[in-house]
Amino acid sequence: MSKTPKPSASKDSSTRRSFLRQAPLLATGAIAACAQSEQQTAPAIQSQQHFKWKMVTTWPKNFPGLGTGANTLAKYIEAMSGGRLQVKVYGAGELVPASGVFDAVSGGTAEMGHGVSYYWKGKHEATQFFAAVPFGLNANEINGWLRYGGGQELWDELYAQFGLKAFPVGNTGVQMGGWFNKEINEVGDFSGLVMRMPGLGGEVLRRLNATVKSLPGGEIFQALKTGAIDATEWVGPYNDLAFGLHQAAKYYYWPGWHEPGTALEGMVNAKALAALPSDLQAIVAYACQAANEDMLNEFTARNNGALQILVKKHGVQLRRFSDELLTEVGKTAADVVAEIAGKDPFSNKVYTSFDAFRSASVSYTRISEEAYTQARALTFG
Ligand code: CA
Repeated sequence: MSKTPKPSASKDSSTRRSFLRQAPLLATGAIAACAQSEQQTAPAIQSQQHFKWKMVTTWPKNFPGLGTGANTLAKYIEAMSGGRLQVKVYGAGELVPASGVFDAVSGGTAEMGHGVSYYWKGKHEATQFFAAVPFGLNANEINGWLRYGGGQELWDELYAQFGLKAFPVGNTGVQMGGWFNKEINEVGDFSGLVMRMPGLGGEVLRRLNATVKSLPGGEIFQALKTGAIDATEWVGPYNDLAFGLHQAAKYYYWPGWHEPGTALEGMVNAKALAALPSDLQAIVAYACQAANEDMLNEFTARNNGALQILVKKHGVQLRRFSDELLTEVGKTAADVVAEIAGKDPFSNKVYTSFDAFRSASVSYTRISEEAYTQARALTFG
């Protein structure tokens, strides 16, 4: 690169034109020379090394959106690496049960996992902030917090304690409020209800005197159908239709105050990641980012059509939680979430970061996304 000529003020214009004509060629030649030099110094054997990873998931194998999202991630990694890193995806129960995914990846039984971090609140309360917080961040906002608002750094700090690195890999968007066999008109109607709801939303319902179950997705339909539970939430129209939940409950409530934009997670065993050549490490990271976007795109597209099928074909009764109910639930949720901050200094740090981002989001979202959808509805609603 040192041979590249430099134009000087003393050269005449024809010399300068000559340089300008040659410059792209000279630059290309310099880049090629650098690349050749790096190829000579990099161990060639490393670039050809092949890896086979296992990805355990908390979803039934190939479950629409969530399970297929894990498949998409594996497909992206294999395609981007030219087959040098192959990832075999396991559904819940195939290698480990849904509840065993975190330990399997932390312990190295599998190199990767796909799930949702609020399943791991038994490991640390703060895991819940990286998935969904009742009345918390929507999909755009949580992606913004994680990538540009300090959230990812906190997630890294937390998961490093378990020998893990996590990436956001997918988002459901705002979920539905759940399936019920009776109308929920006031907050007191939650009292005595046996409802499936994971994470912090479940804790909110517990405070409202419901009995809360945290069943994995694959067990929900049977539990609702047999009356083992009275009510459930799952995801939204696309996923709920796939499980046939409309065959086990009559009323479908909105909005999903408990999961306003649930971030799914791809977790990687930190030692397995560090053992990869640097280009494969980058491929894992960027494949996660691409799969993160892809899943939200799919939910956005498919929820619309699934809702029409649920209502028009299956006669599902849509109901909106009242403002009074949402206000009461919101107050309880604020208490529940703030209490996590008091559990330990790290949880307080995560809560503080999250809460500041939420406050800022409320101010801007009100005059951007929220204002726009209201404006659109004036003509198209
Ligand atoms: Ca859910």
